[in-house]
Amino acid sequence: ARIVDAGSTDDDGVVEAALRPRRLADFPGQPKVRDQLGLVLEAARRRGAPPDHVLLSGPPGLGKTTLAMIVAAELEQPIRVTSGPAIQHAGDLASVLSSLTEGEVLFFDEIHRMSRPAEEMLYLAMEDFRVDVIVGKGPGATAIPLELPPFTVVGATTRAGLLPAPLRDRFGFTGHLDFYEDADLETILARSAGLLEVESDPDALAEIARRSRGTPRVANRLLRRVRDWAQVHGTGRVGLDAAHRALALFDVDDIGLDRLDRAVLDALCRRFGGGPVGLSTLAVSVGEETDTVETVAEPYLVRQGYIVRSPRGRLATPAAWQHLDLSPPAGAQT
Ligand code: ATP
Repeated sequence: ARIVDAGSTDDDGVVEAALRPRRLADFPGQPKVRDQLGLVLEAARRRGAPPDHVLLSGPPGLGKTTLAMIVAAELEQPIRVTSGPAIQHAGDLASVLSSLTEGEVLFFDEIHRMSRPAEEMLYLAMEDFRVDVIVGKGPGATAIPLELPPFTVVGATTRAGLLPAPLRDRFGFTGHLDFYEDADLETILARSAGLLEVESDPDALAEIARRSRGTPRVANRLLRRVRDWAQVHGTGRVGLDAAHRALALFDVDDIGLDRLDRAVLDALCRRFGGGPVGLSTLAVSVGEETDTVETVAEPYLVRQGYIVRSPRGRLATPAAWQHLDLSPPAGAQT
């Protein structure tokens, strides 16, 4: 597992849960989504009715689950958690829906991964608060309509584009989460340090924030590793020196790249003269699966402007050469 992996909760899952903000007012960053969601929830509260269904989209580790829990807390309602992969048959969904209580929040993680029949049942349930339960098989099968109490779906997806339009249209509010500013990550880290009961210096937190790839999950994980280092080798305080040494130990460089990211950049520049080079050739040269390079390393390198995807293959940008302290050869296509 990579220390900079935004998608995996690894063995820190329990600690992660403890670090989640519980109310909207304690949720740093994402000002637009926070304000919009705050308005939707407050209006619903004043009307005394459930709000529109909410869809949260964006890369992993940015707070979709956290916001879903906040929606339930702000509405003072219980939350039921399920996910697209867990609902493979319409019957699985029918049993979840038929046990919801009035006003309950149904959090649907990875909603884009639900099966088609379940999706169709969900449209109807979201729109009309009704499901048709099919009893029997073949020509004798009958659909028995079952009324549901009003409830709120909070859907989360890393791939909003994969949601079929009819499902997307059932969400009255869609919030898109984007990578965090460093200042917001510093606020998150200061709060997490308090919850973890470790003393910290602002410059150390700023350093950790800068290397966290705009992602609170990564920031919190790096903080825990710096804390470990400080407790074993230092005074227990998360200071700048502890941050530098711990992050060096875990191979996280100045801009948050880890060994795999750097291997990809290094191969692209040194071995292939900056490209263009095909993805599978690049993957073989760093000893990884094509899929790993494409989904794990590349998105951040592309977003940060180190790699460009072109129809002829991957190209290194001037920033990539500069980060490796190299000069592009004459004629490099950057
Ligand atoms: P995934 O797509 O992998 O399910 P996610 O977008 O649902 O990820 P969360 O599980 O909500 O992300 O957040 C991951 C971790 O980051 C949690 O431990 C949470 O405490 C922390 N976190 C996320 N956003 C914030 C925030 N704005 N403030 C403080 N902590 C945050």
